[in-house]
Amino acid sequence: MKLRDLGEFPFLHRLRERLPADPRVLLGVGDDCAAVALPGTTVLTTDAMIEGVHFRREWTTLTMLGAKAFAINASDILAMGGDPTFALLSLGVPQETEVEDLDAFFEGFLRAASDCGAALIGGNMSAAPCLMISVTLLGQTVHGVLARAGARVGDDVYVTGTLGDAALGLRMLQEGRSDAAAEQVKARFLCPTIRFAVSRELAARHLAHAMIDVSDGVLQDLGHLCAASRMGAVIDAPSLPLSESYQTLLGKNQWNTALTGGEDYELLFTAAQDQRETIGQLAQTSHCPITRIGHIVAQAEGLTVRGPDGTPLTVARAGFDHFRQDRK
Ligand SMILES: [Mg+2]
Repeated sequence: MKLRDLGEFPFLHRLRERLPADPRVLLGVGDDCAAVALPGTTVLTTDAMIEGVHFRREWTTLTMLGAKAFAINASDILAMGGDPTFALLSLGVPQETEVEDLDAFFEGFLRAASDCGAALIGGNMSAAPCLMISVTLLGQTVHGVLARAGARVGDDVYVTGTLGDAALGLRMLQEGRSDAAAEQVKARFLCPTIRFAVSRELAARHLAHAMIDVSDGVLQDLGHLCAASRMGAVIDAPSLPLSESYQTLLGKNQWNTALTGGEDYELLFTAAQDQRETIGQLAQTSHCPITRIGHIVAQAEGLTVRGPDGTPLTVARAGFDHFRQDRK
């Protein structure tokens, strides 16, 4: 059945039946506003995904798309040391959309939310020429807000997971590649893993001085962190964590995509040098690779990437910018 035939209100009624009860929600979907009780400090973020700009329908399932719409917002909450709590979802949907596709979207979104302990508490649906997804996510910090500002000279710079896979995955989707390595990186673009356990521990144990999530490329995002902290940084290119698939597809010592590729949704943070052992243990207990990729220097020294022999590398393109004409 198409959404046009079912109608908005019957769809929302069905959706409401699917939402699990949550004691924190005083009023959920179905009134003019949702009402929640919020303890501690609330952190808020919003991010949108537009068909034709961020994704193509033929690349992904609607379940994966729903999960990603939640994940890209949750990544921002985690980057503040917060726990995702409540989500609002505003959808623009073509009238020709199959109801079962929309059900699949919500299945992915709600599963991703419940994995983080978050609840969908409201939203809006409207007819639109293409699929447009806008999520507003609230989070709670109980150990203070972990901002971009706070890095200190001498801090180590760390990143979770591997870098550049999502950008490479997008390229493989655009080129229609389907060998094993291509499939691996495509999955990294379509289903980002958010680093919930690492964020929680960093916040609870006050291990990080500053943190950001890598959405626009590690070089650009480290630049944002440095600007907010009024610091500079040195990245050692040979220490960048590259997946096996990345190395298969691009070769070794190819750092440009890892430095500038967007949508990895890994955590980038700085910590004092005397925390190296603790952070090593955190990587073990959270089952998430955490790699030291450089260090913080004074602002006047700027942001440098060093190659294997220690000399500065020139990087071709400094991350993703929606409004720049020269973007790929
Ligand atoms: Mg962010």
